[in-house]
Amino acid sequence: MNSAASSLLAPIAKRLAGKVALITGGASGIGESSARLFAQHGAKVVIADVQDELGLSICDDKSTDGAVSYVHCDVTNEPDVKNAVDTAVSKHGKLDIMFNNAGYSDPETSDICALNQEEYKKVFGVNVLGSLLGAKHAAKVMIPEKKGTILFTSSSASVTHGPTSHLYTASKHALVGLTKNLCVELGQYGIRVNCISPFGVATPMVLKRGGIDKKKFEGIVREAANLKGVVLEAGDIAEAALFLASEESKYVSGLNLVVDGGYSTTNVAFTHSIQKFFS
Ligand code: NAD
Repeated sequence: MNSAASSLLAPIAKRLAGKVALITGGASGIGESSARLFAQHGAKVVIADVQDELGLSICDDKSTDGAVSYVHCDVTNEPDVKNAVDTAVSKHGKLDIMFNNAGYSDPETSDICALNQEEYKKVFGVNVLGSLLGAKHAAKVMIPEKKGTILFTSSSASVTHGPTSHLYTASKHALVGLTKNLCVELGQYGIRVNCISPFGVATPMVLKRGGIDKKKFEGIVREAANLKGVVLEAGDIAEAALFLASEESKYVSGLNLVVDGGYSTTNVAFTHSIQKFFS
């Protein structure tokens, strides 16, 4: 069972009852888990993605109980993004939650001498432009209502070094800056803006990019992790998104919620060197 579906609070509280959410990149991984969890908590969810078959299969899945619908949307294409927002509003009458989660991770290594402008366009197109467009069109419908919440999926690469490319890391930093600026602009309208920064999660994005299977990837993450004994799953990020989307976080805005088990606060290299020295 998807860990999101096993949320302990689900039977006692529908934390998004009556809410309408649009989730970009909702056909897979973190977005899919979030779509399922939000629906389980009473939200009407519209998935906006380019993977039509996968997106539609979530809508048809009996467990989502008709609460999830799908719209084709390339987040780098402004008319698509506008259409996704309009679809959510025309279908459900409003938009409460805009989760800009679609992402692209390039295959480049951290070699500045190999910087490739075409890859720059792809990474910044999906991760930054796509998020800006999502925020723009969501804000247009949220401002008159004087409420709403906008979320972004950044990365733990926004707070510490990781094995991600310069382009990916820079794009995820950009989302933290965007979160802060938007939080200030939109606070006057009662709109909250936050982002989530996950550590490594075994989703198709990382498995495909690394050509690695789920078990192997989770083993690598487990070994590098600060917090031992648990495995970070897409459902855990969905739980963070649920918190930031719900009224439980009604006074939280401008936050980068880092979900990394403390990884970014540690640097054990020096400790290991000292231990080696004295052993
Ligand atoms: P995923 O591949 O499972 O999901 C990404 C989704 O984004 C896919 O459904 C894909 O079709 C969609 N997408 C890509 N380009 C798009 C476009 N132009 N328009 C619309 N949709 C598009 O991967 P994931 O890990 O669930 O990624 C979700 C987010 O989490 C991304 O922003 C990613 O950068 C971020 N993230 C992932 C990890 C991780 O370890 N998996 C860690 C930190 C941050």
